[in-house]
Amino acid sequence: MAPLSGRFAPSPSADLHIGNLRTAVLAWLFARSSGRRFLIRVEDLDDRTFSDVAARQLADLRAIGVISDEPPEYQTAHTSRYDTVIAELAARGLVYECYCSRKDILAAPRAPHAPEGAYPGTCRDRPAPPDPSRPPALRLRSDTSSYTVTDVLHGTFTGVVDDFVLRRGDGVTAYNLAVVVDDAAQNVDQVVRGDDLLSSSPRQAYLGALLGYPPVTYAHVPLVLNEDGKRLAKRDGAVTLAEIGVQQTLTLIADSLGYTATTLDGMLTEFDPASLPRQPWVYRPV
Ligand code: GLU
Repeated sequence: MAPLSGRFAPSPSADLHIGNLRTAVLAWLFARSSGRRFLIRVEDLDDRTFSDVAARQLADLRAIGVISDEPPEYQTAHTSRYDTVIAELAARGLVYECYCSRKDILAAPRAPHAPEGAYPGTCRDRPAPPDPSRPPALRLRSDTSSYTVTDVLHGTFTGVVDDFVLRRGDGVTAYNLAVVVDDAAQNVDQVVRGDDLLSSSPRQAYLGALLGYPPVTYAHVPLVLNEDGKRLAKRDGAVTLAEIGVQQTLTLIADSLGYTATTLDGMLTEFDPASLPRQPWVYRPV
């Protein structure tokens, strides 16, 4: 049996900026400090043509010492793994076809507390496809509207579980399914990532439980913001490793976490999950 693992799972949509690198350092610190194996997984289902971006991301991570204990896996290599799980759920009666567009979903009446964009269940009991010429998305037939997860930084967090997409109409496996299946396949029981994904974790944990996977501990860490309080982006100036430099990047990350050490191993001796900053870090390019 593979050892318990933590991981960092970047999508190769753009070069990593200092906020992404900080999350990667935190994922590494969480894994190492708890004796877990550390893995990097390239989440390239949406960005399958960007292999050069993935290569640059891996090189940047390596340069700051965030190195996967196993060769990084690519989600595009796992299609049959995802198909098997979707077939398994379908055999249990837990999958249905959905023909709704984004516009249909936004226009449909919602349950009183459902957030915008939550799927209202339009196709759940539809007797016949309204448009047989259009390939349907596949959705999970969930039997709850919410689920509770445990997060190191957020405590118990209860969030929406709707009939979320498992496979998109264009045939691409949906992120929520892929991430849950891969984490289980790689024995990942510790998920560290940006807190923009906190609201997705109840859906993922619910799906994991349906599939009989062991529960996962989450740590959703604060994002990095620019001076205007917006999510850090490339246009904010010097934000990538190539622009900032390796040592300065590590120094800035250590400083943002309140550590005096500026090497990964040094940060590891100072790392304490209980005293991590809870507020977003505001980054000012130098
Ligand atoms: N691939 C996702 C991203 O880059 C992260 C997914 C995860 O960590 O679960 O935002």
